[in-house]
Amino acid sequence: MSLQKLNNYALGQWIPSTDKGEVLYNSITGEPLYIADSVDVDFAAALEYGRKTGGKILRKMTFHERGRMLKDLAIYLQARKDKYYAISAYTGATKADSWVDIEGGFGNLFTNASLRRQLPDEPFYIDGDIAKLSRGGSFIGHHIMVPKPGIAIHINAYNFPVWGMLEKIAVNLMAGMPAIVKPAQVTSFLTEAVVQDIIASGILPEGALQLLVGSARGILDHVKNGDVVTFTGSAHTGRMLKATQRLIDEAVPFNMEADSLNASVLGADVTPDMPEFDIYIKEVAREITTKAGQKCTAVRRMIVPEHLVSPVQEALAKRLASTTIGDPAVEGVRMGALAGLQQRNDVLAKIEQLKTSQEIIIGDLQNFEVVGADREKGAFLPPVVFLNNDPFHNTAAHEIEAFGPVSTLMPYKTLDEAIELAAMGKGSLVSSFITYDDRLARDYTLEAATSHGRILVLNRDCAKESTGHGSPMPMLVHGGPGRAGGGEEMGGIRGILHYMQRTAIQGSPTTITAITNVFQQGAKGRDPGIHPFKKHYEELHIGDQIITEKRLITSEDIDRFAALSGDNFYAHKTNTDFTGTMFDQQVAHGYFIMSIAAGLFVDSYEMNPVLLNYGIDELRFTKPVYPGANIHIRFTCKQKLPNDTTPDPENPRSLIKRGIVKWLVEMLDDDTEDPLVGVATILTMVKTLEQ
Ligand code: NAP
Repeated sequence: MSLQKLNNYALGQWIPSTDKGEVLYNSITGEPLYIADSVDVDFAAALEYGRKTGGKILRKMTFHERGRMLKDLAIYLQARKDKYYAISAYTGATKADSWVDIEGGFGNLFTNASLRRQLPDEPFYIDGDIAKLSRGGSFIGHHIMVPKPGIAIHINAYNFPVWGMLEKIAVNLMAGMPAIVKPAQVTSFLTEAVVQDIIASGILPEGALQLLVGSARGILDHVKNGDVVTFTGSAHTGRMLKATQRLIDEAVPFNMEADSLNASVLGADVTPDMPEFDIYIKEVAREITTKAGQKCTAVRRMIVPEHLVSPVQEALAKRLASTTIGDPAVEGVRMGALAGLQQRNDVLAKIEQLKTSQEIIIGDLQNFEVVGADREKGAFLPPVVFLNNDPFHNTAAHEIEAFGPVSTLMPYKTLDEAIELAAMGKGSLVSSFITYDDRLARDYTLEAATSHGRILVLNRDCAKESTGHGSPMPMLVHGGPGRAGGGEEMGGIRGILHYMQRTAIQGSPTTITAITNVFQQGAKGRDPGIHPFKKHYEELHIGDQIITEKRLITSEDIDRFAALSGDNFYAHKTNTDFTGTMFDQQVAHGYFIMSIAAGLFVDSYEMNPVLLNYGIDELRFTKPVYPGANIHIRFTCKQKLPNDTTPDPENPRSLIKRGIVKWLVEMLDDDTEDPLVGVATILTMVKTLEQ
């Protein structure tokens, strides 16, 4: 039977594998399905193609354009998901496993796409606040981050062929960098099916994504300064690749997510009759069996109070006994096969190593039932739980990762011991702590944080909605210290910034405004011609500025504001003895000054393109304002952001096209040496000309 040759996608074309490629199998039946290699791909040329073709276009796109592109891609792929589920079955995955891989991957695209709303409509990112570098304010510093000029090279593990690719490319594409993806060979057929559709969609610019289905050995010998390498896989391979001389010579960052001996700790406050006990059993059982334990975040070590070892063992044995193993296509099967026979052999070898110092208490490798498939031809294993009664001296469980449905139960006496045991994994991706005592939760979290990339605290209040021990979330950092590689591949905007270069910029506020397109305090304003509230979104310019009339603040005003708002704080009263306070006399409410600011800058009486004011950021009252002060406002268009929320046809108001405009409000009293008494950024929605 001739096997289907997988295709690489490089240099703008599909390049098939050769006859000599690696044979890839159906892990349930053992049947050969595909051939894969990348021998006909010129790696150096492919990397350069990505940098020069896809990178060139992506770097010019704004975050909003990149975000909308990812959203379109997610919608496009979602419509084709049935095809991926069918292929995913060959990897041994159950429907639930495939859901995590496939739809979890799309979820990653959606979440990253939504991050655009927190980012400017520019190709670059503005990092942090300005630094005042001069007394007079004519010289300031700031930071921008621009997309790196190279290509992201993603070397992925075999367990999540879709999610593994999408969680990474979502981030580099948002940042404006192209990628070349090298999935692990054994499951690369599923990655290829998705990439076929991505390319066919035409949604990504050409050169933004390339694929190598083969082993791609030697690819890192072609990296260049400006590239980024990410690696997901075993610590052993990761360390070897990280030492590639070319990476060092070219100063290319290597983000490593390696294997991890994650721990789930049961709090000493928990008793078998508490909901937290059941939550613990459910969580660890799920982590042992999902994806047949082939998850980098799976619970490899269960650390429980000494007196709860037996109840935990009993409850876990009962729960795992109900795990039906077999062909996921058969109704009722809860756990499928490992990715391949090679992977099963690796796990069996690791089990043998673990067996030298600890005993198996749940699971029989010789006798387990497999439904709807041949136990030997398919890569099946039963859940296996070890007991290690002396975990401080028998340390194999802290060192050996059996990448399958395998975990070790171990006792602890005190919380310090639990923390120490968890840390003996030498750095992990995730640790969970199941407790209904928030003081214990705090003590565990603060002490254990140095060893784990993420800490999940579970109890009855959050368990139902919890995303679980094993699920990295696109908004949160995924990665971990030490053995886990020290990398961070996601984490909301934090993840995106890994693919960007930070540069400090210095100059006058006016120049920094021109570069960043965000008005900086102290920059020259421009005459808008008419009140800026009369302008539509497109007609507004950064720096459009008005200076308002003055308003005299009186003691009666302050009294009236106190009466109206109910804010009768002593500082706003005339009859207060101000000795020992921060004030000399009755002081105006900061909110009153902000309110009169609105009274001064709002163009009141006519209908205008400003639809609404929806908030204030960074409001500061910098000096007290006393009766007799004459306050006026410098009001400047600070930043413009598109608003591209999806309109709701049921709600006609949502159909009004608009953008978001931020305004700098400077509250000034010219009669004092430093006139600034307050500052704020207000946010408005402004109608666009085009409706
Ligand atoms: P692996 O054997 O370390 O391989 C990982 C990737 O590296 C594969 O794509 C592999 O390609 C590639 N690779 C190996 N040698 C290479 C070389 N010389 N040059 C270029 N690429 C090379 O790991 P795996 O067996 O696929 O995955 C299982 C391991 O990954 C487990 O230990 C697990 O804990 C870890 N993992 C970690 C995370 C995480 O986020 N931390 C996530 C998932 C998995 P080939 O397939 O072609 O050999």
